[in-house]
Amino acid sequence: VSSYEALQRILKMKKNIILLGPPGAGKGTQGQLLSKKLNIPFISSGDALREEINQKSAIGEKVDSFIKKGALVPDYVIEEFIAAVLNKYDLSRGFILDGFPRTIHQADFLNNYLKDINAKVDAVIYISLPEEEIVKRISGRRVCKQCGAVYNIYFNPPKHDMKCDRCGGELVQRPDDKKEVVEHRIKVYKQETKPLIDYYNNHHLLYEVQGQGILQDVTERVEKVLNDRT
Ligand code: AMP
Repeated sequence: VSSYEALQRILKMKKNIILLGPPGAGKGTQGQLLSKKLNIPFISSGDALREEINQKSAIGEKVDSFIKKGALVPDYVIEEFIAAVLNKYDLSRGFILDGFPRTIHQADFLNNYLKDINAKVDAVIYISLPEEEIVKRISGRRVCKQCGAVYNIYFNPPKHDMKCDRCGGELVQRPDDKKEVVEHRIKVYKQETKPLIDYYNNHHLLYEVQGQGILQDVTERVEKVLNDRT
């Protein structure tokens, strides 16, 4: 395809996008790539919360124990927080949300928030991954302490040992990526977040993409479902 055609395709894409899926499915990685390509903000509730914890802010202290346990931050806390985060962005050309909503209550909240700014969700990309893969993926995940870029020592290793390709920052394992916590996060995902699959399916917004395989293949699948307008 010519670059003109590629651009036309991108302009036609649905651009208010939610990424849904189990921990470790690649939502952050795919979201960051897509955000660069479409030049729209990538907003990750987990990243934003970790930033608050690093800064030792009041909200950071409030959420720290939930995150450490692999539990969800209560709806009323995260909803107030995410609204403040979203308010800081220009969402007029689109956005990619990763990690929010995670409960039906949060999904209703988001709909109302968007309605108030004359917007709506266009597409929910559900990146699926079998449970065995989830654990494997998460055990290999490393993130840049400085810029938040995500790597995987098995599937998407950095070019230089444990240094970020983008900014040279140190790569670390998230404390809640340790095995004991991951099991709890998967359980919480199944109980609280999986019902969103039906929720968005009923709203005709759900697009499932298989999360297995190499990063580039998953990217292609994501772009394909966004291009195929219904
Ligand atoms: P993530 O980086 O998306 O895996 O999020 C890391 C942790 O942050 C989760 O395990 C939760 O403790 C918390 N968190 C992030 N987003 C939400 C949310 N939408 N609702 C409740 N807790 C959240």
